[in-house]
Amino acid sequence: LNRRLAEFGTTIFAEMSALAVRTGAINLGQGFPDTDGPEEIREAAVRALRDGLGNQYPPGPGIPELRTAVAAHQQRRYGLSYDPDTEVLVTAGATEAIAAALLALLEPGDEVIALEPYYDSYAACIAMAGGTRVPVTLRPHDGAFRLDLDELRAAVTDRTRLLLVNTPHNPTGTVLTREELTAIAELAVERDLLVVTDEVYEHLVFDAAEHLPLAGFPGMRERTVTIGSAGKTFSFTGWKVGWITAPPGLVTAVRSAKQFLTYVSAGPFQYAVAEALSLPDSYFDALRADLLAKRDLLASGLAEAGFEVFRPAGTYFVTTDIRPLGESDGFAFCRALPERAGVVAIPNAVFYDHREAGAPFVRFAFCKRTEVLEEAVRRLKSLP
Ligand code: PMP
Ligand code: GLN
Repeated sequence: LNRRLAEFGTTIFAEMSALAVRTGAINLGQGFPDTDGPEEIREAAVRALRDGLGNQYPPGPGIPELRTAVAAHQQRRYGLSYDPDTEVLVTAGATEAIAAALLALLEPGDEVIALEPYYDSYAACIAMAGGTRVPVTLRPHDGAFRLDLDELRAAVTDRTRLLLVNTPHNPTGTVLTREELTAIAELAVERDLLVVTDEVYEHLVFDAAEHLPLAGFPGMRERTVTIGSAGKTFSFTGWKVGWITAPPGLVTAVRSAKQFLTYVSAGPFQYAVAEALSLPDSYFDALRADLLAKRDLLASGLAEAGFEVFRPAGTYFVTTDIRPLGESDGFAFCRALPERAGVVAIPNAVFYDHREAGAPFVRFAFCKRTEVLEEAVRRLKSLP
């Protein structure tokens, strides 16, 4: 393994899911639903397979039906208009979109500012692209992890090329506010930075929180690559259908990298996701209501079990602080938890450069059936 990748080892998600299988523990680690997405969308995939739609290489940018559906979705939800032919690119999940964007847009030595804790592929992809990551740490404040705008501004240097943003934010569940996004946008414009914004949890927001796409802020459309994914919104994480929306020059750049990574992907699933994106609002509302109830079940259960809970405004993850349990090392806690309580969780420290800042935080996923969450809570409450 080369020096660029050596520090990353095996992704925590693979490690923890393997641990769950080995120990038979309830897996609240890796974020994937234990119930598949809509029957009619599965049927659409079967129909595409049977009718020979997408069984051979689909077009490089993605099938026109899906690009049109992505553009229509951005218009309908956010009033953002993108040309399906020149401003939308279909990718092999958001993961490939992140990789292709960073490989295409960074010069060696360019600095990338990422909100810490950051999703683990960001660090690896910045490294593969020869960039340097500059983390800005979200810190607990009034029950949520918040961005310090002065710290963000101070992190920009003459070598900063790109801001890598994620809202709703994995693993903290923070949804960036209009004020925070305005400040990010102003900074990007002032310092002429590119922005890659990972919005895969755009539909998973709760209570009064609202997802605002960064591309909608003044001066942002022309400098922003927005990333979406069918995995989270439609509960098909195994299909690996994602996309970007961006102005033509940025789409062309990202496609230059994408063509040599996968060229294309998942032909029949693209047809099905095109249909999924056109589902009525009631689908998205029901998804949110279902996850809201599960969030409350798990968050309350964890609090009763003695954790400090950061009730998330978005995503399907809840971050906890284990110090009230007399613990301080999230890694050790998560490695022992399957034996101690039959539950798997993720130590947030893996998402930090400043590992000590993330040490006491542990993430639990709540995209699971109610009875599974109830059993997990029962087990955690009897934690020895
Ligand atoms: N970004 C974030 C913030 C994620 O949490 C995930 C995975 N859950 C991804 C990207 C990857 O998405 P995909 O499965 O579509 O590749
Ligand atoms: N995004 C998912 C999570 O945060 C995991 C995806 C993966 O396994 N790479 O849990």
